[in-house]
Amino acid sequence: MKRSISLAAYSLILGVFTVAAFHVPFFSHVISHLDSAGPGVAVVAFLALMLVALDFLFYYLLVFFARTAGRIVIAITLIANAISAYLFGTYQQLASVEMMGNILHSSATEVSGYLSAFLILFVLFLGVMPAVYAIKRKPERGSWRKLLLCTLLAVLVGFGSVLANVGQIPNARRHSTELGGLLLPWSYTVNSVRFLVAEHERHADAILLPDATITTDTEDVCVLIIGESARRDHFSLYGYERETNPCTSRDSVTALPAKASNTYTIACVKAMLEPWETEELYETLPDYLYRAGVDVEWRTSNWGEPPLHIDKRYDVKALAKMYPGEDARHDGILLAGLKEDILASPKPKQFIVLHTYANHGPMYFRSYPPEFEVFTPAGKTIDEYKADPRRLYNVYDNCMLYSDWIIHSVIEILKGMPSRRACLIYMSDHGESLGENKTYMHSTPLEIAPKEQLEIPFLVWTQNAGLTVKDLPEVGQHHIYHSVLRFFGVDSPVFDESLCVFE
Ligand SMILES: [Zn+2]
Repeated sequence: MKRSISLAAYSLILGVFTVAAFHVPFFSHVISHLDSAGPGVAVVAFLALMLVALDFLFYYLLVFFARTAGRIVIAITLIANAISAYLFGTYQQLASVEMMGNILHSSATEVSGYLSAFLILFVLFLGVMPAVYAIKRKPERGSWRKLLLCTLLAVLVGFGSVLANVGQIPNARRHSTELGGLLLPWSYTVNSVRFLVAEHERHADAILLPDATITTDTEDVCVLIIGESARRDHFSLYGYERETNPCTSRDSVTALPAKASNTYTIACVKAMLEPWETEELYETLPDYLYRAGVDVEWRTSNWGEPPLHIDKRYDVKALAKMYPGEDARHDGILLAGLKEDILASPKPKQFIVLHTYANHGPMYFRSYPPEFEVFTPAGKTIDEYKADPRRLYNVYDNCMLYSDWIIHSVIEILKGMPSRRACLIYMSDHGESLGENKTYMHSTPLEIAPKEQLEIPFLVWTQNAGLTVKDLPEVGQHHIYHSVLRFFGVDSPVFDESLCVFE
């Protein structure tokens, strides 16, 4: 550390380290998808050269223009690279928009779910120690002439490597999503920016829809339960051999096959609340109904919904305060005082959304009370899931049992008001991977998402509604919007019969 070092040597050491330490998955992906005719070793060598040139230039420019701040940025990216590499190695999870959302949203419970002794060691050796080197080692800045020379050289090497691999470009394009996701620190930087842009848009003003009119004067209550990471093939209502729906299977619910719009919470919850597939933010269903005079209430133990312009939005903290005697550790808190709330409503039409935590991994066991630990032994960590997948299925299915009980409990509450027209809709935001192709959890980019992350359940139950559920081969997430409008007898130009589950 004492001897002086040129900025070029410093950048080269870190560039080579970055490519060697964090790009093993990238290169193994390249090798397994090479066009068989190509000379594999040469392709990999030129790609490595290109990445080293890119990282070299990045480090050189950072430290040249911002000596201290630049080294701090490098240190942070080295630690972040190590975390990303670990997550990919362990869960096959790319540093996706959702992952960056979890981290940037600093959802401590979600992030802590990933902690393990191996992670700490991994990050210590591949992240923290190199980061200390990057900060402690103070390279000589060198002249502007040298900067020009090094930049030129890096650009030449980079372009030269691309040219040498030009034959692989169509192939690379086909696999660009996975390959891009494995490039560190670029993938998580891009996805962090994407998340922040999405967050900004999420809080933008929504585009208002044409006014809606309520055409009936009956007392109606509709409850929408948004599930989390619940995949369809683990519902016995859809044929799963294990009894995971002991309650709702006796509630005469209709179960329709459904497909998620995406693989992560923010995108899927937005899709469930918007009238059609769109990049824009249109007036959400709660806002639209609220403006039309419906009493709207949102209860959540999760996060990630679009901005709501309603007066009743309660998260777990608020609910725990309102109902101090209730256990606020699980989704059951969403039911506290619900019946009284419905009965006390000053309006004839009520729309209630329960956004549950449900099957949120990887520490699924945190989601349900001990009495729902029916399938045992239930795993607690990713190492246990990998060693014995049955432990993962057990713990995941216990979450299912608990969600089944939550849905059933809401139906019981509604049955307790037999004179009202009532409707319950349950839909999961997206599915979940449980180790298929070594993939865990969700948020795989949509282009390459496995079916387990997209095939979700859609349950509907009604009382006195005078509505029949269509026999549809598959429904999407926008079906919620139009089905709820139909249930409330809302007359609106946006209503689309083809996206309504009711006859
Ligand atoms: Zn989710």
